[in-house]
Amino acid sequence: MIEVKTKYCPQNHHCPSLAVCPVGAIKQDGFKAPYIDQEKCTNCGRCVLSCRVFQQVSEPVTSNKMTANK
Ligand code: SF4
Repeated sequence: MIEVKTKYCPQNHHCPSLAVCPVGAIKQDGFKAPYIDQEKCTNCGRCVLSCRVFQQVSEPVTSNKMTANK
């Protein structure tokens, strides 16, 4: 899963990383910090290489916590 670290984005320009995403999962409203459409993202990692704003993080554990280890 890709997380956007907005503190690293100056939010004053068109995000050049939109062009590196092969599936169009990086979105931007105006010059605001970009965000990720997690439904589209394939975790290819290209954005991570393009800018430190994008960081690979572990998937949050939101399910199966009641069924694990049973
Ligand atoms: S990891 Fe790949 S698919 Fe996902 S947002 Fe970054 S460039 Fe796009």
